[in-house]
Amino acid sequence: MTVKVAINGYGTIGKRVADAVAAQDDMRVVGVAKRRPTYEVRTALAKGYPFYTVTEENRADFKKRGLEVAGLLPEMIEAADIVVDCTPEDVGAENKPLYAKAGRPVIYQGGEEAEVAEASFNAAANYSEAWGKRAVRVVSCNTTGLCRTLFPLYRELGIEDVFAVMVRRAVDPQDAKKGPVNAITPALKVPTHHGPDVRTVIHDLPIQTMAVVVPSTLMHLHAVAVRLKKDVTAKDVLALWERTPRVRLVDGGEEVKSTSHVMELARELGRPRSDMYEIVVWRDGTSVSGRRLYYYQAVHQESDVVPENVDAIRSMLKSEDDGRKSIARTDKAMGIPAPRA
Ligand code: NAD
Repeated sequence: MTVKVAINGYGTIGKRVADAVAAQDDMRVVGVAKRRPTYEVRTALAKGYPFYTVTEENRADFKKRGLEVAGLLPEMIEAADIVVDCTPEDVGAENKPLYAKAGRPVIYQGGEEAEVAEASFNAAANYSEAWGKRAVRVVSCNTTGLCRTLFPLYRELGIEDVFAVMVRRAVDPQDAKKGPVNAITPALKVPTHHGPDVRTVIHDLPIQTMAVVVPSTLMHLHAVAVRLKKDVTAKDVLALWERTPRVRLVDGGEEVKSTSHVMELARELGRPRSDMYEIVVWRDGTSVSGRRLYYYQAVHQESDVVPENVDAIRSMLKSEDDGRKSIARTDKAMGIPAPRA
C-alpha cells in the first residue's frame, strides 16, 4: 500500500519532510500547502508536488505570480491518508479542528505543546507509543538530539541523572530578520523546558537542562553530563553509540572541530541542503570519570527531526510494527548510513 501524505506548512521542516516522504517507496506526497507565494513554491512545483493554498486570497496571490494551485487546504487534507503539520509554532494547534473535521490523523512538530497530541515521538525511544494513534507530536530538534544519545544509555546502562547545557543557534540560516547578532542570551527560566520535553518520550528520565542562545545559524551544540548506573569506559559508550541509528561519531583530531566543520562534512557527503540528519558526537570529547559520562553533541536543527516524521507515519498507520525496521527503511531511502550491527 502506498500511503498518501499531505504536508501543511512548507518552510524549513515542511520542505524537508516532503522530500523525505517522496524518497520512500511506501509513501507519496499528495500535496503541500503554504500561505505566501515565495520562491520555494516554484521549486516545489518543479518537483511535482501539487501546491495548495490556505485561503482564496492566497490562491489569488499565487495566480498573480503564475503559480499553479491545485486547490485549498481542506481539499488537500481530504486527499490524504495522513497530514504532517509543519506550520510555525502554535499554528499547528490552531489547525487541529481542520484535521478533526476531515477525520485525518495528524503529526505535529516540536513547536507545539505536548498536549496537542496523544503521544510525543522519537523513533528509537518510543516507536510503539505512536501505534495507531490519531495525533502524534515529533519532539523538537533539541529534544530529538537528547533522546537519540540518551535513550541507548538509559536502556543499556541505566541513568541516575542527566544535566545538559544547550548552546542554541539564534535562528535558521535563511531567517535574516532576527538575532542576536552580537550577544549571548541566557534562558532565564531555569531549568529550561527541554528536560520536561525529553520526559514526554523517556518518561522517567531524571534530566535537568539550561540553555543559552548564541549568534550562529548552523547548529545547536549540547554539553551533556550523565551519571550512569553501571561502571563503563568511554570506549564502551562509544561502541554503544556506534550501534545506534542516527548517531554519527566524529574526531576533533581529524579536524571536525566545530559546527561549521560538521556542516562542511554534510556538504562533502553530498547531502541535500547540506543536511546532517544524525546527531554528531565527538569521540575525543567523550570521557568517563567514575560513573560520570561527559560528552558534546551537535544538532542540525533544520533536519534531525525529518526522518522521525517518516517513522511516525508508519507507526500511526500501522504499516510496520518493528521500529528498527522502519528506521532502517527510512534511512536507506534518505542516504543515512546504517549503524554498526
Ligand atoms: P517555518 O517558518 O520555516 O515554516 C512554516 C511554514 O508554514 C511556512 O512555509 C509558512 O508560510 C507556512 N504557514 C504559516 N502559517 C500557515 C498556516 N496558517 N497554514 C499553512 N501554512 C502556514 O517554520 P519551521 O522552522 O519549519 O517550523 C515548523 C515547526 O517545526 C514548528 O513547530 C517548529 O517549532 C518545528 N521545528 C523547527 C525546527 C527548526 O529549527 N526550524 C526544528 C525542529 C522543529
